[in-house]
Amino acid sequence: MSTWRNWSGLETASPSEVLAPTDPASVAEIVARAAGTGRRVKMVGTGHSFTGISAPEDIMLRPDRMIGILEVDRAAMTVTAAAGTPLRVLNTELARMGLTLHNMGDIAEQTVAGATSTGTHGTGGVSASLSAQLSGLELVSGEGELLRASRTENPELFAAARIGLGALGVLTSLTFDVEPLGVLEAHEQPISWAEGLARYDEFVADNHHVDMYWFPHTDGMQVKTNNRLDNEPSQAEPLSRLRAWWDDDFLANRVYSVINRVGNARPDSVPRLNELAVKFLSERRYSDIPHRVFTTPRTVVFKEMEYAVPRAAGLAALREARDRIERSQWRISFPVEIRQTPADDITLGTSTGRESMYLAFHVNARTDHRDYFAAMEQIMVAHGGRPHWGKVHTRTAEQLAEVYPRFEEFLTLRDRLDPHRVFANAYLTRVLG
Ligand SMILES: Cc1cc2nc3c(=O)[nH]c(=O)nc-3n(C[C@H](O)[C@H](O)[C@H](O)COP(=O)(O)OP(=O)(O)OC[C@H]3O[C@@H](n4cnc5c(N)ncnc54)[C@H](O)[C@@H]3O)c2cc1C
Repeated sequence: MSTWRNWSGLETASPSEVLAPTDPASVAEIVARAAGTGRRVKMVGTGHSFTGISAPEDIMLRPDRMIGILEVDRAAMTVTAAAGTPLRVLNTELARMGLTLHNMGDIAEQTVAGATSTGTHGTGGVSASLSAQLSGLELVSGEGELLRASRTENPELFAAARIGLGALGVLTSLTFDVEPLGVLEAHEQPISWAEGLARYDEFVADNHHVDMYWFPHTDGMQVKTNNRLDNEPSQAEPLSRLRAWWDDDFLANRVYSVINRVGNARPDSVPRLNELAVKFLSERRYSDIPHRVFTTPRTVVFKEMEYAVPRAAGLAALREARDRIERSQWRISFPVEIRQTPADDITLGTSTGRESMYLAFHVNARTDHRDYFAAMEQIMVAHGGRPHWGKVHTRTAEQLAEVYPRFEEFLTLRDRLDPHRVFANAYLTRVLG
């Protein structure tokens, strides 16, 4: 029997069988057979979700034989990729064709289907989640039927399956809206807590993408703004290889790993280590093609909880989070990340119907996260927060129905598409019933 384990090591499962389908027809055959024999099927991505959302409890489908670009439509400016394509492959292929996604998250290891199925998002822009950049998809339902969806074809399925939690079917391909490859200028600067909060609205109004970090036990923040330039990619001024390695690999991963080890062994040292980290923050500017600005490799393994609260409540929620951390005995070595997204129209999208601020709380993979996350979750929930589907949380279907106006619509669709619950697992039973 094989063992499946997610990236952070928090979730494990023992699938009874592992299969690697190559195309929609083989997926449909496996699912139809499972439905007929009362078995369950789970297509996994790269396991980068911190929750057990992709835990395969019976038949596990591997994505690695469904990779690559399937179609490029330059008139419509769309690109279709097989569902198991890693984002980094999509980004590289798009760049090679002079194209790019509009927005993305911090890393590019996930599969396109895994990332969109949990609502993976970046910050700012006209659309922030990868799901909001989809213009079409193809999936195999729980009865083995191959369905297509777009704004005009099966629109109800399109609204829901862009963030389908793996509950509606196995995605076989995804069509993304793309843009001509441009250049983003990144500007990173250290800033105080007081200035960061006072100028937050101004930062968001004046920049395309704003990402902020607060270092617990300190008054220090870092703000990163990314803005589109009119330059051609050949005019970009990227960091030198040495500077990129020094900042984004040596300091951000290797030195940070040592700091985390020290912090784990001697939690009392964490506030001083965080103060030191804040002192070492420096201002830098560079420009590059979008995926090289948005994403960096992450090798320090952590656990994360992230909530989307209504934008208007965001700063109050952040202040309460800081206040709670300062009144506690916890020693939090990871910064709190603050991002912002426009509203979207995805049935169970964390930003559905409302502009949102995302607050993300992290701890080292070896640190006990439970008290810290529980206290932060309580604050986020009090502000009408919606948990990221792929990050640690404790919400149940009953509680989630209160913050998602179209929750019932999703459940009705699930009943229709997966009547035998071929795609169920413990996580889906908790969050959907
Ligand atoms: C280091 C790190 C950084 C991260 N940064 C960000 C970030 O910046 N922004 C953000 O929002 N999130 C971020 N995340 C969260 C991550 O993007 C999501 O959890 C994402 O879902 C992981 O994708 P995956 O390919 O690993 O999918 P998995 O975690 O393996 O699966 C996720 C879900 O997708 C389903 N799925 C996978 N393939 C298919 C398919 N073909 N058909 C139907 N369902 C499918 C699975 O069954 C499961 O339900 C980060 C996570 C890590 C570990």
